[in-house]
Amino acid sequence: MGEQDSREAGFTMARMRMVENQIVQRGITTPPVLEAFRTVPRHLFVPVLNQGEAYADYPLPIGHGQTISQPFIVALMTEKAGIKTQDHVLEIGTGSGYQAAILSRLCRKVDTVERIPELGERARAVLRDLGYKNIRVHIADGTQGYPAAAPYDAILVAAGAPEVPMPYRDQLKPGGRLIIPVGGSWHQDLQLWVKTGTDFEMISIIPVVFVPLLGKWGWSAGYHRNDEED
Ligand code: SAH
Repeated sequence: MGEQDSREAGFTMARMRMVENQIVQRGITTPPVLEAFRTVPRHLFVPVLNQGEAYADYPLPIGHGQTISQPFIVALMTEKAGIKTQDHVLEIGTGSGYQAAILSRLCRKVDTVERIPELGERARAVLRDLGYKNIRVHIADGTQGYPAAAPYDAILVAAGAPEVPMPYRDQLKPGGRLIIPVGGSWHQDLQLWVKTGTDFEMISIIPVVFVPLLGKWGWSAGYHRNDEED
């Protein structure tokens, strides 16, 4: 085996262990969700310097003060969103593109929005090189959702919001699901909102820590986490 092959084999083993120890053992059971995590090469979504930690049980820096979420949190959000094969899914906060890649293996089409152009462009390139064809990356303020392609069966928000941005309510189909961390800047409550007709039901999932959702319906762009006392 060449050096490159054994390196890849090491990543594959680490990935299978990640699924078993961090995801299955914590109660994620949906087979297609587990299969997606066994397949998507997470190490290609993190900076080269962090590749050795790509399958570890914590978030990693991806530049511009942002992070790729802990694998379990990505899995939990994905499972709770109840993604079906025909779904059209909107993700807010593309970051590395990892969560978009996971979602794209479970549904028909993913639109994902990132506000930092460099991150969006890098994610677009990684996803293209890996051959994901049902994902479109948009550079925009995702607190407005992505009206041009609405409505969606599910919306997943990967940054913490002070409250649910109004546009998400309108851009969900009836029966649609919204997964979003809501709360202060240092800790939020991961919430599932289900659109029942024109009404919404909310279920609180677990406490989480996400980077802030910045924009018109989120925290203001000049905002710094340390400005807030909580
Ligand atoms: N899902 C990502 C995790 C990204 S971290 C992954 O799998 O790697 C959250 C991302 O949300 C950051 O990249 C941040 O720039 C982005 N973000 C914050 N506010 C945003 C907004 N209003 N619109 C779009 N993206 C936003």
